[in-house]
Formats: sequence, C-alpha cells, structure tokens
Amino acid sequence: MMTEPVTRFAPSPTGYLHLGHAYAALFAARAAGGAPARFLLRIEDIDTGRCRPAFEAAILEDLAWLGLTWERPVLRQSERGPAYRAALARLEALGILYPCFCTRKEIAREIARAGAAPQESGGRDGPPYPGTCRNLSAQEREARRTAAGGAALRIDAAKAAELVGALSFTDEDAGEVRVDPLLLGDAVLARKDIGTSYHLAVVVDDADQEVSLVTRGRDLLPSTHLHRVLQALLGLPVPRYHHHPLIADEAGARLAKRNDARAIRTLREEGKSSAEVRALAGFPD
Ligand code: GLU
Repeated sequence: MMTEPVTRFAPSPTGYLHLGHAYAALFAARAAGGAPARFLLRIEDIDTGRCRPAFEAAILEDLAWLGLTWERPVLRQSERGPAYRAALARLEALGILYPCFCTRKEIAREIARAGAAPQESGGRDGPPYPGTCRNLSAQEREARRTAAGGAALRIDAAKAAELVGALSFTDEDAGEVRVDPLLLGDAVLARKDIGTSYHLAVVVDDADQEVSLVTRGRDLLPSTHLHRVLQALLGLPVPRYHHHPLIADEAGARLAKRNDARAIRTLREEGKSSAEVRALAGFPD
C-alpha cells in the first residue's frame, strides 16, 4: 500500500499572502491526501531584515480563513540555527565550502566584465557566481576575513559534483530529472549576516520534518538540482517533488506579494467568501 505523502507549505513572512500563495498552500494541502492528512507549515523567516512578525500572524490567519489546518507545532527557521550550523560543519569537513567576500555590486561587475551570456541559468539566484573568491590563498582569506568581519560561505559546485557522482530526482510532473550539479554554480549556503541560506535551510528542514513530497512553484526547479546535491552530501533522505505552474493574474504577470490588489486580505475586505477565494486560486470546492 502506498503511504500518503507528508507535504508542507513554507511561506516567508515578508508580506501578505496573495493568490499565488493560496494556490501553493492549497496544492500542498490537497497533495497530502489521506485522513488524517499530514500537512505541515514552516515559516521561512531567516531573512531577519525582511521578515516581520505581523506578516507571520497575518499569514496564519489567512490560511485558517482559507479553511486549511496543519500540524502543530509550526517550525520557524529563525529557531533552527544549531541544525543549520551542524549541516555546514559536515559540508566544511568535506572540503567543499569556501569563504566569499564579494559584494553584490562586485559580482555584477565581474559578470559584466566576463561578458556572460544574458540567460540566467541560476533561476531565482540570478546568473552563477563567477568564482572570484574560489582560489584565494589561505593567507589572503584570513586577511580579508579580518578586514570584512566575516564572510559568506559558498559551495564549490565542481568539487561537490565529483563527490556525489550522477544524481536524479523525481518530479510528479516532469518525471525523472537528471541533476546538473553546476546549474546554480557556487551558490551561497551561508550568508555573512544570517549564517545560513534558503538552500541549506530548506534541505535540512524538509529532512528533519520528514517531508516526503515537496510541492512548490516551477520557478524553484533550478534550486532542486542544488538541493539534491546537498541531500547526497549530507546523507539525507530524498523526497519526491512536484513543481507546479505559477498561477497568473489577468494580465498574465506572475503574482507577486507586491501586488497588493490580489492579496488575500484585500479580497477578504472586498467581501469575497473563503470558497470564492479558493476558486480564484484555482481550487473550486
Ligand atoms: N520560502 C520559500 C518561498 O516562499 C519556499 C520555497 C519552497 O517551498 O521551497 O518561496
């Protein structure tokens, strides 16, 4: 007998939920199937500069209004520092991390100088890092670390690729996907300011929460290549994936949190019922 999957919805409290989030949340909850369904909620609030407790409260309220229920306790990434540090230490011991001192501006300048292709293979991450800090000497690293008061940590994607060999993951839509470990390049696994990153946190948390089916938008498909590499390096179980389409508004533009007109709050204030909003999000009862 197939066991029902454990799914999750993992919003970042950087704004109000909009229809795109409602779609993702309903998609994940429905995918959990089963009675009782195991549907989890994770608050991805590592980016302390952008996340607000008021948005977290609003997200929980909107999800409940939409008719969703989830397992307690809710996992908050801001409380998971020790788990992320332990994972980083394992990766460090494998010799596949290096400190990076570049600012965003320096990276953009370097990419422009190298005349990189305009295509952005890195998905949400933008074009791959040009590797400026990869080959600094130990001495230079120490000097720059002192001067900069710390560093970000990047994965050496080529070294990691050698260690893990051929990998794949299963997407319920796309089927068996062969991993390209270089797709995101040398991604940041620990930001200088917060000591972790979306990529590291999501992999560690999905494993710790025993999520067996990761559902999320297709814009994150490139990230899954890196996540699969991290699972292999850290010896973590591999969930199944379902990267779903992003629902679009009337203009066909991707719904963004900035688009307040489509915020669940706004629709509620306009007098729409929960069932109407579920239908707008693509899940008619
Ligand atoms: N916090 C991420 C987002 O809002 C979650 C992505 C994921 O489901 O892995 O896009």
